[in-house]
Amino acid sequence: MIIETNTPQETFCVGKKIGENARPGQIYTLTGDLGVGKTVFTQGVAAGLGITEPISSPTFTIIQEYETGRLPLYHFDVYRIGDIEEMEEIGYDDYFFGQGICLIEWANLIEEILPENLIQITIEKDLEKGFDYRRITVTGNEVNSK
Ligand code: ADP
Ligand code: MG
Repeated sequence: MIIETNTPQETFCVGKKIGENARPGQIYTLTGDLGVGKTVFTQGVAAGLGITEPISSPTFTIIQEYETGRLPLYHFDVYRIGDIEEMEEIGYDDYFFGQGICLIEWANLIEEILPENLIQITIEKDLEKGFDYRRITVTGNEVNSK
Protein backbone atom coordinates (compact mmCIF):
# COMPACT_ATOMS: atom_id res chain seq x y z
CA MET A 1 0.00 0.00 0.00
CA ILE A 2 1.35 3.44 -0.91
CA ILE A 3 0.04 6.67 0.55
CA GLU A 4 1.24 10.10 -0.55
CA THR A 5 1.14 13.14 1.71
CA ASN A 6 1.95 16.80 1.23
CA THR A 7 1.86 18.14 4.78
CA PRO A 8 2.98 16.96 8.24
CA GLN A 9 -0.68 16.89 9.27
CA GLU A 10 -1.48 14.37 6.54
CA THR A 11 1.36 12.12 7.65
CA PHE A 12 0.09 12.44 11.21
CA CYS A 13 -3.35 11.32 10.03
CA VAL A 14 -1.93 8.27 8.23
CA GLY A 15 -0.25 7.29 11.50
CA LYS A 16 -3.44 7.99 13.42
CA LYS A 17 -5.47 5.62 11.23
CA ILE A 18 -2.88 2.91 11.82
CA GLY A 19 -3.01 3.57 15.56
CA GLU A 20 -6.79 3.33 15.54
CA ASN A 21 -6.67 -0.04 13.81
CA ALA A 22 -3.61 -1.49 15.56
CA ARG A 23 -3.97 -4.86 17.22
CA PRO A 24 -2.15 -6.28 20.26
CA GLY A 25 1.31 -7.66 19.51
CA GLN A 26 1.87 -5.90 16.21
CA ILE A 27 5.36 -4.72 15.37
CA TYR A 28 5.87 -1.83 12.99
CA THR A 29 9.25 -0.88 11.59
CA LEU A 30 9.79 2.68 10.49
CA THR A 31 12.45 3.41 7.90
CA GLY A 32 13.50 6.68 6.33
CA ASP A 33 16.16 9.36 6.43
CA LEU A 34 16.55 11.86 9.20
CA GLY A 35 13.86 14.54 9.03
CA VAL A 36 11.57 12.55 6.74
CA GLY A 37 8.72 12.36 9.26
CA LYS A 38 9.14 9.21 11.35
CA THR A 39 8.42 11.05 14.57
CA VAL A 40 5.45 12.90 13.06
CA PHE A 41 4.07 9.54 11.94
CA THR A 42 4.66 8.05 15.41
CA GLN A 43 2.83 10.96 17.02
CA GLY A 44 -0.12 10.08 14.79
CA VAL A 45 -0.01 6.42 15.81
CA ALA A 46 0.03 7.48 19.46
CA ALA A 47 -2.95 9.78 18.92
CA GLY A 48 -4.81 6.93 17.23
CA LEU A 49 -4.19 4.78 20.29
CA GLY A 50 -5.59 7.55 22.48
CA ILE A 51 -2.27 8.52 24.02
CA THR A 52 -2.31 12.15 25.05
CA GLU A 53 1.25 12.54 26.39
CA PRO A 54 3.76 14.29 24.14
CA ILE A 55 5.81 11.92 21.97
CA SER A 56 9.42 12.71 21.25
CA SER A 57 12.19 10.66 19.70
CA PRO A 58 13.64 8.31 22.32
CA THR A 59 17.11 8.94 20.98
CA PHE A 60 18.93 8.56 24.28
CA THR A 61 16.92 5.74 25.76
CA ILE A 62 16.36 3.14 22.97
CA ILE A 63 12.79 2.74 24.18
CA GLN A 64 10.02 4.97 25.42
CA GLU A 65 6.85 3.38 26.81
CA TYR A 66 3.40 4.94 26.73
CA GLU A 67 0.76 3.21 28.81
CA THR A 68 -2.16 5.63 28.73
CA GLY A 69 -3.76 4.56 25.45
CA ARG A 70 -6.03 1.76 24.29
CA LEU A 71 -2.91 -0.45 24.00
CA PRO A 72 0.62 0.15 25.31
CA LEU A 73 2.93 1.77 22.77
CA TYR A 74 6.61 0.86 22.81
CA HIS A 75 8.52 3.36 20.73
CA PHE A 76 12.06 2.23 19.94
CA ASP A 77 14.77 4.28 18.32
CA VAL A 78 17.81 2.06 17.92
CA TYR A 79 19.84 4.55 15.89
CA ARG A 80 22.57 4.77 18.53
CA ILE A 81 22.66 1.12 19.48
CA GLY A 82 26.21 -0.21 19.75
CA ASP A 83 25.48 -3.90 19.80
CA ILE A 84 22.60 -6.30 19.98
CA GLU A 85 23.33 -7.08 23.63
CA GLU A 86 21.88 -3.69 24.51
CA MET A 87 18.54 -4.99 23.27
CA GLU A 88 18.91 -8.05 25.47
CA GLU A 89 19.70 -5.84 28.45
CA ILE A 90 16.43 -3.96 28.08
CA GLY A 91 14.56 -7.26 27.73
CA TYR A 92 13.35 -6.59 24.20
CA ASP A 93 11.46 -9.88 23.88
CA ASP A 94 8.98 -8.82 26.55
CA TYR A 95 8.08 -5.95 24.24
CA PHE A 96 8.27 -7.78 20.92
CA PHE A 97 6.14 -10.69 22.12
CA GLY A 98 3.86 -8.75 24.47
CA GLN A 99 0.38 -7.32 24.02
CA GLY A 100 1.38 -3.78 23.12
CA ILE A 101 2.33 -2.15 19.83
CA CYS A 102 6.02 -1.86 18.97
CA LEU A 103 7.16 0.90 16.69
CA ILE A 104 10.85 0.66 15.80
CA GLU A 105 12.85 3.42 14.16
CA TRP A 106 16.07 2.25 12.40
CA ALA A 107 14.96 -1.37 12.68
CA ASN A 108 17.48 -2.43 10.03
CA LEU A 109 20.18 -2.09 12.71
CA ILE A 110 18.63 -4.92 14.73
CA GLU A 111 17.52 -7.11 11.82
CA GLU A 112 18.86 -10.31 13.40
CA ILE A 113 16.41 -10.19 16.32
CA LEU A 114 13.32 -8.99 14.44
CA PRO A 115 10.39 -11.41 14.25
CA GLU A 116 9.06 -12.42 10.84
CA ASN A 117 5.63 -10.91 11.23
CA LEU A 118 6.32 -7.24 10.75
CA ILE A 119 4.56 -4.33 9.21
CA GLN A 120 7.14 -2.25 7.42
CA ILE A 121 6.61 1.46 6.96
CA THR A 122 8.97 3.37 4.72
CA ILE A 123 8.81 7.13 4.33
CA GLU A 124 10.58 8.81 1.44
CA LYS A 125 10.92 12.28 0.04
CA ASP A 126 10.80 13.12 -3.64
CA LEU A 127 11.95 16.70 -4.12
CA GLU A 128 10.60 16.78 -7.66
CA LYS A 129 7.15 16.53 -6.14
CA GLY A 130 7.74 19.29 -3.61
CA PHE A 131 9.59 19.93 -0.38
CA ASP A 132 6.80 18.59 1.85
CA TYR A 133 5.87 15.62 -0.31
CA ARG A 134 6.26 12.20 1.33
CA ARG A 135 5.61 8.72 -0.02
CA ILE A 136 4.62 6.28 2.73
CA THR A 137 4.87 2.60 1.80
CA VAL A 138 3.26 0.01 4.04
CA THR A 139 4.17 -3.63 3.48
CA GLY A 140 4.28 -6.79 5.49
CA ASN A 141 2.93 -10.26 6.11
CA GLU A 142 0.05 -9.03 8.21
CA VAL A 143 -1.00 -6.39 5.72
CA ASN A 144 -0.89 -8.79 2.79
CA SER A 145 -2.88 -11.48 4.54
CA LYS A 146 -5.81 -9.18 5.30
P1 ADP B 1 12.36 11.98 11.65
O1 ADP B 1 11.77 11.48 12.94
O2 ADP B 1 12.12 11.06 10.49
O3 ADP B 1 13.81 12.34 11.77
P2 ADP B 1 10.61 14.23 12.12
O4 ADP B 1 9.26 13.61 12.17
O5 ADP B 1 11.24 14.59 13.43
O6 ADP B 1 11.61 13.33 11.25
O7 ADP B 1 10.57 15.56 11.26
C1 ADP B 1 9.95 15.66 10.00
C2 ADP B 1 9.97 17.12 9.56
O8 ADP B 1 9.49 17.25 8.23
C3 ADP B 1 9.08 17.99 10.43
O9 ADP B 1 9.72 19.22 10.65
C4 ADP B 1 7.83 18.16 9.58
O10 ADP B 1 7.17 19.38 9.86
C5 ADP B 1 8.42 18.18 8.18
N1 ADP B 1 7.47 17.75 7.13
C6 ADP B 1 7.21 18.43 6.01
N2 ADP B 1 6.34 17.80 5.23
C7 ADP B 1 6.02 16.64 5.87
C8 ADP B 1 5.16 15.55 5.54
N3 ADP B 1 4.45 15.48 4.39
N4 ADP B 1 5.08 14.54 6.43
C9 ADP B 1 5.81 14.57 7.57
N5 ADP B 1 6.64 15.58 7.93
C10 ADP B 1 6.76 16.61 7.08
MG1 MG C 1 12.62 10.99 14.84
